[in-house]
Amino acid sequence: MVEMACRNCRQIFDIPKGIPHICPNCKLPTLTTEWSGLVVIIDVEDSVIAREIGATKPGRYAVRIGR
Ligand SMILES: [Zn+2]
Repeated sequence: MVEMACRNCRQIFDIPKGIPHICPNCKLPTLTTEWSGLVVIIDVEDSVIAREIGATKPGRYAVRIGR
C-alpha cells in the first residue's frame, strides 16, 4: 500500500501498488505521493481546518501537496 493524496480534494488514500492511481472521490488521476503534513478531519461541520482545506467529508487530508 502507498499513501497517496489527491491534488484536487486533498484526501489521503491507501492505494495498493500496481493499480491505476485514480482518486475514489474525484474519479480522476489526481493522486500523488508528493505530499506532506497530515490532518485527520472527524467532524466536517465543526472544523475550522476542514473549511480551510475544503474538506467535505471525514478522513485524512494532506496539508501540502507537491506537483
Ligand atoms: Zn480527489
